[in-house]
Amino acid sequence: MKFSEIIGQEEVKQRLLHTITDNRISHAQLFYGKEGTGSLPLALAYAQYIFCTQKTETDSCGICPSCIKMQKLVHPDLHLFFPVTTTEKIKTKPVSSFFIAEWRKSFLKNPYLSLAQWLENLGSENKQGNISVEESAEMIKALNLKPYEAEYRILVIWMAERMNIAAANKLLKVLEEPPEKTVFLLVVEDYDKLLPTIVSRTQLVKITSLKEKEIAEKLKEEYQLNHETAMQVALMADGNYAEALTLIEKEEEISSQFNLFITWFRYAFARKIPEMIRWSESTAGLPRESMKNFLQYTTRMLRECIVIRYHINDLAKTEGETKESLSKLSKFVNEKNIIPLTTEINKAIADLERNANAKILLLDLSFKIAKLLKAN
Ligand SMILES: [Zn+2]
Repeated sequence: MKFSEIIGQEEVKQRLLHTITDNRISHAQLFYGKEGTGSLPLALAYAQYIFCTQKTETDSCGICPSCIKMQKLVHPDLHLFFPVTTTEKIKTKPVSSFFIAEWRKSFLKNPYLSLAQWLENLGSENKQGNISVEESAEMIKALNLKPYEAEYRILVIWMAERMNIAAANKLLKVLEEPPEKTVFLLVVEDYDKLLPTIVSRTQLVKITSLKEKEIAEKLKEEYQLNHETAMQVALMADGNYAEALTLIEKEEEISSQFNLFITWFRYAFARKIPEMIRWSESTAGLPRESMKNFLQYTTRMLRECIVIRYHINDLAKTEGETKESLSKLSKFVNEKNIIPLTTEINKAIADLERNANAKILLLDLSFKIAKLLKAN
């Protein structure tokens, strides 16, 4: 993978390029970014750049023998580790090498692959993927090999926070006495779950969420979406390209989420109590994760109302009919109620995480919204 194939993240790319031109490649680096931000493709593009024999100042060449191997993820000095589970075929002690062919295929099809998608491809969607102590033994085996072709060998550990404690301790020992000419790239979404002693031995490469415009542009280019749909998807995906790809597979949901939001606020504004009750009952039937996503989406739509209300057009993310509907609603969303509205919705998200009764919670929230919309 070349840097140029990765969405946005220009600053991180520059920083990574500088580590090489300045000849200070740190032996252990922590690529930390939320799901769908591109931390894994960045780590692999970085590895490809290190291996490339004809690199330019800004990217790997994509055509030298090293690049060709990296683009198929078969470079002999690249060692990949990722969470796995037991499956129909592998009943005990699963390690990455058993599943490397499937993993390569999954990544090459979608470099923004999420852990959930990977486990689904593995046929293990209801299991937790783990990196076990047997896997650390595999890592140590890889370290006993001399680099075959390149100057360095590179170990990429995707979702390193999925290491169990025994595996993490083994890795820590290795990082304490790093072998020569070896680079560890740990890719994580949640580094609070890593041993602090591992974190302190790595150099942090922080990867931020993607901007809506960047996601929308990529969607337009790759999937020929029109601008309005692309922006809607990008807004719902909230900086997560993996999520955006999942969303475009179910196109009807894109408009349904907006409709769910706008009808809710219309009922609340008009204080149509029977409709509010019906809305809360049917929305409470959604899976909890979808409900949380929907509420987060609601807060983004309210922010958009403020942007439209005060004509801050540079920041406006919607267009067409969506923008028109929001523009009507924006007459009732202002600097006085935006903060209480957002606070109430965020409180509801936290309560949902604590397993509150969704029906009661949504109805209660609807009444609060009704009150706040009228308090102008
Ligand atoms: Zn090359």
